[in-house]
Amino acid sequence: MFHFLSIFLLLVSTLLFSSESKKIPILTYHRFGVEVSDSMTIKTASFASQLEWLKLNGYTVISLENAYAYLHGELKSLPTKPVVITVDDGHKSVYTQMAPLVKKYAIPVTLFIYPSAISNASYAMSWEELKELEATKLFHVESHTYWHPNFKREKKKLSHEEYAKFVDKQLRGAKEKLEEKMGHEVKYLAWVFGIYDDELLDKAKKAGYKMAFTIDRKHASSSDNMMAQGRYMVVSKHDIKAFENMVNGKEEKNTH
Ligand SMILES: [Zn+2]
Repeated sequence: MFHFLSIFLLLVSTLLFSSESKKIPILTYHRFGVEVSDSMTIKTASFASQLEWLKLNGYTVISLENAYAYLHGELKSLPTKPVVITVDDGHKSVYTQMAPLVKKYAIPVTLFIYPSAISNASYAMSWEELKELEATKLFHVESHTYWHPNFKREKKKLSHEEYAKFVDKQLRGAKEKLEEKMGHEVKYLAWVFGIYDDELLDKAKKAGYKMAFTIDRKHASSSDNMMAQGRYMVVSKHDIKAFENMVNGKEEKNTH
């Protein structure tokens, strides 16, 4: 009798434990500047205060790779207060403004890059700069599609066949180009403008991405679709209290 009871309790606790979702806050930045020139730019000094705040409050910035391994079940534990830092678009200010702070705090950062801009658009970094950043072992380049399109608009404009080809170029094409240029596997994707639908999630998976990210303001979670994980975009309007509420989950609790 006791034996059956203990097996039963073990089963119940296993079920309870496994149904509990694992969660990690992932932050998204775009541009950094001494002055704030637009809503997507954050003051370099504010970013510095955020890193200092994380350090003083016991947070550990972990790599996206470890976040994936944890959410996917390969990594059993993480530091008690983990947070992931990502930057979309490959703006030059990542190299000039952000990188010195990333080096100072020695934190891992994932850059979501769209290859058409690199060594091409005036606001973007060059391939050499990206390689230099990766050589620090702190930065890692992942995919943000090929040329940052609006999938919703393109879907309306193009025929079914043209659109399928277009999506393949943006997802698979970007992955291949970045792998060729950076010399390592590209596993993760950030949805452009946060636009995605079921078809795109499916195509991203088929293109070989392991995890993809939106800008839906919630923690990345093992209970969510791996191809549509939430991130918090951090912009100039967020003060340190708002920042605190992102990473500690209060903002998520209040909005869901
Ligand atoms: Zn973007």
